[in-house]
Amino acid sequence: MREGTIARIAGPMVIARSVSGSQMHEVVRVGDAGLLGEIIRLDADTAFIQTYEDTSGISIGEPVVCTGEPMLITLGPGLLGNVYDGIQRPLATLEKESGPFIGRGLTVDALPKEKLWQFQPVAKPGDPVGPGSILGTVQETAALEHRIMVPPGVSGVVREISQGEVTVQDWVARLADGKQITMAQRWPAKVPRPVQEKVSSAEPFVTGQRILDTLFPIARGGIACLPGGFGTGKTVLEQSLAKFSAADLIVYVGCGERGNEMTDVLTEFPHLVDPRTGGPLMDRTVLIVNTSNMPVAAREASIFVGITIAEYFRDMGYAVAVMVDSTSRWAEALREISSRLEEMPGEEGYPTYLASRLASFYERAGAARCLGQDRTGFVTVVGAVSPPGGDFSEPVTQSTMRVTGALWALDSPLAHRRHYPAINWHRSYTLYFERLSQWYGRNVSREWPDNRARLMEILQKEAELQEVVQLVGPDALQENDRLLLETSRMLREGFLQQNAVSPTDATCSLAKQHGMLSLLLVFHDVAHDALAQHVPLARILALAEREELARLRDVAEADFSRIRADLESRLRRAIETLVKEEQQ
Ligand code: ADP
Ligand code: ADP
Ligand code: MG
Repeated sequence: MREGTIARIAGPMVIARSVSGSQMHEVVRVGDAGLLGEIIRLDADTAFIQTYEDTSGISIGEPVVCTGEPMLITLGPGLLGNVYDGIQRPLATLEKESGPFIGRGLTVDALPKEKLWQFQPVAKPGDPVGPGSILGTVQETAALEHRIMVPPGVSGVVREISQGEVTVQDWVARLADGKQITMAQRWPAKVPRPVQEKVSSAEPFVTGQRILDTLFPIARGGIACLPGGFGTGKTVLEQSLAKFSAADLIVYVGCGERGNEMTDVLTEFPHLVDPRTGGPLMDRTVLIVNTSNMPVAAREASIFVGITIAEYFRDMGYAVAVMVDSTSRWAEALREISSRLEEMPGEEGYPTYLASRLASFYERAGAARCLGQDRTGFVTVVGAVSPPGGDFSEPVTQSTMRVTGALWALDSPLAHRRHYPAINWHRSYTLYFERLSQWYGRNVSREWPDNRARLMEILQKEAELQEVVQLVGPDALQENDRLLLETSRMLREGFLQQNAVSPTDATCSLAKQHGMLSLLLVFHDVAHDALAQHVPLARILALAEREELARLRDVAEADFSRIRADLESRLRRAIETLVKEEQQ
């Protein structure tokens, strides 16, 4: 066993001498306590080790033992519903073994070792199999079937396949060359898992959030950057996406700003009900949690643990969504480690490789044709950023925007006005819409792209008119323009705003989104025509139907199309009546 000695300790950084023959990113055991660490720089036989655990009590001269392996993530049945720390140790097991303060040097299994799973074989003896071939399935939770795959790099002919109760350590298939395949496989966190090819997806990642689906959608396998200052609604939005977005599985990485924020996540998630199944949301969720008081190196690792787990389920052909809240705390960990290494700092003290490290995470998102039988899987990523003071010109926001295809910019003034989600539509954008517009046209309505363009145009026009109002006051506006301001207000309050805690409004189907928007636009059009027939604006605005339009948000999905159709015909009739009265 290769061993070195500790020469220096600087917080989470340990410098060891005479660790010959080591590799970059090799995992080591540090000190008599056997703390988990990783070599992040090698100068001849001096190794710079970042430890994933608190180094207090460790002394110079104690041994450093090399394991010969990189940080490996364990993948297999038992991931779902688990809550892990930044290096994939289940928090529940850690707590059981060491009490509320996580003991150091503890090795705990990432997956339950003894648990018996019902393995249902798919492959038969004699079948040729290769990386990604599905050997069988395990109904891991009520919400998700776990597909047991041949790991990358392994192929052969099945000689024997098991059936029924197995643990993750038992073999489920033996190949002709004697190789045994277990349900659990291990994979280095920083290495993307292989696929046949990355493909471009023309399907949206449906979120149930009107402003996102209608104005700024991303593709399945796409990436969105969600920056926002403190209290602008990042966490609420990430959690709404976790609950309601059209994903088979959610990987939620909480890089806690404060411990109590993560406590909220930990206490809330286990009670969340899955709107798709009625069962617990945790049945299709993996949580990775690290608070600001946990070691920084584990926080740096956590997002790679999350994306590796996401890729593994993608390989089965699932649509996975990864939520990270927030990457700023992750970047701070990177900065701290870099400064301990005495590296040359870049902008605002972040290392010069901040952008490339962030990119190495985000680039693992995407739609892919998986290895093995023909299937497509998706990893969609939404990364929250908390720029200090809400200033988007800082390095983490900028580096993230460079690799993401959509910006969902949260805004403090909007949040102060309690306009939620506080997404500023003037600053936000998506590069995906062109690619998705056909899908919306085919699957929701042919009018979708036009309606979206009209919504944008009205909001744009409102901003211009508001400048005029600021200069010369509202009286200078013509009735047409005043109507536009009213429609725009109705669109903002009745369509773009969405209440995350209202049972009827927290999520919204695409059909309902379309129905709401098109009816608001109908109102605008018929009101516009009525103005042309000299109906005074005040009379149009006084219509009771207009109030009902504003409340469409809260109409239950089941009643929506009936109520909408009825409201449309009453609205048209009411305005016709106004026109007739005017003509008499
Ligand atoms: P951040 O994570 O950006 O600091 P939070 O997500 O914790 O902010 O949001 C702060 C508060 O804003 C929430 O506690 C909630 O009261 C309110 N809020 C944010 N988004 C919504 C929403 N969509 N509906 C209702 N309230 C919201
Ligand atoms: P009012 O109180 O007149 O209904 P608000 O105070 O809610 O309007 O908004 C004032 C203006 O701020 C809006 O008309 C619009 O131009 C701008 N605004 C409001 N919400 C947003 C947003 N989410 N993104 C960009 N601009 C916005
Ligand atoms: Mg938050």
